[in-house]
Amino acid sequence: MKIEISKIIKTKRKTIALQITEDGKLIVKAPFGVSKETIQKVVTKHKDWIEKKKKEILSRAPKFVKKEFVNGEGFLYLGKYYKLRIVDKQDTPILFDNNHFYLLRDYLPVAKEVFIDWYKKKAYEKISERVEWYAKKRGFVYNKIKITKANQRWGSCSSRGNLNFSWRLIMAPLPVIDYVVVHELVHLEEKNHSKSFWTKVKMLMPDYEKHKDWLKRNGYLLTL
Ligand SMILES: [Zn+2]
Repeated sequence: MKIEISKIIKTKRKTIALQITEDGKLIVKAPFGVSKETIQKVVTKHKDWIEKKKKEILSRAPKFVKKEFVNGEGFLYLGKYYKLRIVDKQDTPILFDNNHFYLLRDYLPVAKEVFIDWYKKKAYEKISERVEWYAKKRGFVYNKIKITKANQRWGSCSSRGNLNFSWRLIMAPLPVIDYVVVHELVHLEEKNHSKSFWTKVKMLMPDYEKHKDWLKRNGYLLTL
């Protein structure tokens, strides 16, 4: 059976990558110059994976719903949903009072950007605080913290000791954020996911598996 490809994206990349969208469609990212036949071969070869992944995404509950920025819509922050209220008057484009999000009506056309800016700022504050706490506790030395707009990676650690985290993490519960923080801090000492890497993670966070699992199951919800 031939598998339907919804879209082929040609880029400067070196390898072919398969991606299943939130609505179960197959997207192929391929280097320039790769033929349709080659792509079809790769797709056929990974048929089982594609079908499994599609099933997994389509059977997920709750379904991810793209935000519309309307009154009463829920927005995640530290693992909880808060309802949005569109207001006509306030001093900043967005406001959060631990109860609701308030968005100034004039900013509706750029609501997504306004939210992402807010999330980024909060992510930087909270993640810096957690990194510092764990670094002190265990004597890790890191360089800089950066908040990224990565979609596929929650965090990364560079060879120069810079720690990068996706802004989307701030939507997750705090213990889940802590797990990613611990994970990246341990990478300062252990580059690979070796046995000793996981031993060190466990020493800092005995119940890390629970949070790692949460992220795997719910990560798709952490976006706008
Ligand atoms: Zn890792």
